[in-house]
Amino acid sequence: MTHLTAPQHMVTRFAPSPTGKLHVGHAWSTLLAHDMARAAGGAFRLRIEDIDGTRSRPEHIAGIIDDLRWLGVAWDGEIVFQSQRLASYDAALARLRNMGLLYPCFCTRADIQASLTAPHGPEGPVYPGTCRDMGEAVRARRIATGEAHAWRIDMAKAAARVGALQWQALSPPGPNVDMTDVALHYANPLSHGDVVLARKDAPASYHLSCTLDDAAMGVTHVLRGDDLRGATDIHRLLQALLDLPSPAYLHHKLLVGPDGRRLAKRDGSIALADLRAEGMAAATLAADLRAGRFPIGIGLASA
Ligand code: GLU
Repeated sequence: MTHLTAPQHMVTRFAPSPTGKLHVGHAWSTLLAHDMARAAGGAFRLRIEDIDGTRSRPEHIAGIIDDLRWLGVAWDGEIVFQSQRLASYDAALARLRNMGLLYPCFCTRADIQASLTAPHGPEGPVYPGTCRDMGEAVRARRIATGEAHAWRIDMAKAAARVGALQWQALSPPGPNVDMTDVALHYANPLSHGDVVLARKDAPASYHLSCTLDDAAMGVTHVLRGDDLRGATDIHRLLQALLDLPSPAYLHHKLLVGPDGRRLAKRDGSIALADLRAEGMAAATLAADLRAGRFPIGIGLASA
């Protein structure tokens, strides 16, 4: 364990994608981030991750805002919408391209799935690198003909450029836990392979937009679910490549339903909007979540 030395103004955030209704797990995550900032006299920010044009919906943005207000969670400053930050994503992509670290990838999902030898990383199959060694002339011709393409990072090249990296992991909340205790984790971006930084159907991938926005918003402490622990390796690499500060990370356990499966936006039964409609008192729910008491049938994932 090391200790954060310089006193700093803590900034945490909640960064939902408006692709469905918020559920109890989101409420718990938000309260953790909100309360941590408030306890430290810091700021809590809200960012809407709405660059997925096919899945993001205005009604879900309105729903998120209603849910947070109902829950009694107030955020500081303006809401940041990723759809309004596309120029900064473009600039970062141009910078990485100029470093020779990106290449266009024309593969379809089916092409990648057909590559049976693809190894698996922490987040599923790793891209086999099909388009990595394509000649420049072929690339230029395919782009010129308007063929749809994503931009991938050459992970081996990128990792070699920055060398070994670590990220700061905060202790999970609990009795007698000093939230300023951090452990250093080695990042293993290579295990993810050549991830996509600009999608065929969206101007940036989650990894790029999230990393840039956390830095732009001055986020010092990222609290998010365990499902995004692997993503932190990639975010740490991007921070090093783009000279961005690296926040501390706390990955909290996920909540699971009675079937043992993690809560998902499709599980309408535990949507905050539905609990509200059923007459649940927000103050009771918030107090219960703060005390680690979850609605019947919902609990912490064991792993
Ligand atoms: N937008 C992501 C989600 O809704 C969360 C991003 C993050 O917290 O880093 O799953």
